[in-house]
Amino acid sequence: MDFSWSDEQLAYRQAVVEFAQKELNSRLIERDHDSEFSREAWQKCADFGLLGLPFDVELGGQGADYLTTMLAMEALGYGCRDNGLIFSLGAHLWSGATPIARFGTPEQKDRYLRGMIDGSLIAVQGMTEPGSGSDAYSLATTATEDGDGWVLNGSKTFITNAPVADVFVVFVSVDRSKGWLGLTAFIVDRDTPGLTVGKPFHKMGIRTSPMSELIFEDCRLPAESMLAKRGSGMMVFNHSIEHERGAILAHTVGTMERQLEEAVAYARQRKQFGQTIGKFQAVSHRLVDMKVRLESARLLMYRLGWEWDRGGGKAIDASMVKLVLSESWVQSSLDAMAVHGAYGYMSESQIEREVRDALASRIYSGTSDIQKNIIASQMKL
Ligand SMILES: Cc1cc2nc3c(=O)[nH]c(=O)nc-3n(C[C@H](O)[C@H](O)[C@H](O)COP(=O)(O)OP(=O)(O)OC[C@H]3O[C@@H](n4cnc5c(N)ncnc54)[C@H](O)[C@@H]3O)c2cc1C
Repeated sequence: MDFSWSDEQLAYRQAVVEFAQKELNSRLIERDHDSEFSREAWQKCADFGLLGLPFDVELGGQGADYLTTMLAMEALGYGCRDNGLIFSLGAHLWSGATPIARFGTPEQKDRYLRGMIDGSLIAVQGMTEPGSGSDAYSLATTATEDGDGWVLNGSKTFITNAPVADVFVVFVSVDRSKGWLGLTAFIVDRDTPGLTVGKPFHKMGIRTSPMSELIFEDCRLPAESMLAKRGSGMMVFNHSIEHERGAILAHTVGTMERQLEEAVAYARQRKQFGQTIGKFQAVSHRLVDMKVRLESARLLMYRLGWEWDRGGGKAIDASMVKLVLSESWVQSSLDAMAVHGAYGYMSESQIEREVRDALASRIYSGTSDIQKNIIASQMKL
């Protein structure tokens, strides 16, 4: 495996860092407090090309390989402190656009993907329901065939981007007696009669990423709204969730690098008991743990990108990346806060927010427990 970057890739990484530092961090403490999503920042990311990274050039995308996409996301995490924006963007890319890019008809790609890449359409996936979270395939929302279309009834909850999204990739059952063989994906426009988007939820972290419920009451869809074939919902979901698990936390490698640099700089200048705190072994070892955690997580993620680019990469690899990146990010954020003492607990430091933001990553895209279950089952346990 070769993870050496070309001059072009390194220049792009640097350009993303500079773009993010300059354009994406304004009024963040205030926006976090007010749970305010920035459509302006979203559009800037689209204009910079970030929303089209892994997608076809013919549709307006960048045609980048997975490793380059991960590198760009890593750079975004280094330069941008708005983890809510990055999470919204990741949900859009991996759960909204990816299934359409992989399974959409030419008409569906033309109608939706172009807008998802140029920033005019915000998308996300609707899988979770009040009664089905980790056990996602036990969902209860149904689609009933009606003439030349389908009628959806049920609800989805904890849906990222929903308050601002234009398009939803929704998983429902067309025949509950068939279990997962009845699962089917549909593309639903926000303004479809019978679809109600709930009020935004107030969350602990990633507050600049809005979230709400979706309620379907006799929501009628034309036949061409179906994504892939009837009964192929599990295949569609597995494809996108694996990409989500492997890539949605790519930015945390950059975030952890920034956290480490700032914590080291602080430990070199903050003095207690007549010496800089970095001279205390308890502090220096904490910083070493941050460093080793960062470098291990980075390599695990790059390995998956390298394998994806060669048509490989299995569910176990994506789950390991998700598990390691989320748990590493939580611990790195806690360590950064510990090094900064009381200052790290203050909103002004922007460190406490990253603790709150990081904790969400243990839950979305499947909890850490579920990632361990997947890894264990692949180990034939
Ligand atoms: C910030 C955020 C964004 C999200 N965005 C979306 C979105 O855009 N679209 C969407 O569809 N969903 C989204 N979700 C929902 C997310 O996918 C679910 O919350 C997640 O899958 C867990 O489901 P649950 O919350 O119902 O917890 P539950 O499944 O009820 O789990 C509760 C606890 O039990 C544990 N548990 C459950 N089953 C097992 C098991 N078999 N073995 C061991 N432990 C188990 C879990 O690990 C957890 O600790 C989001 C969630 C969050 C927090």
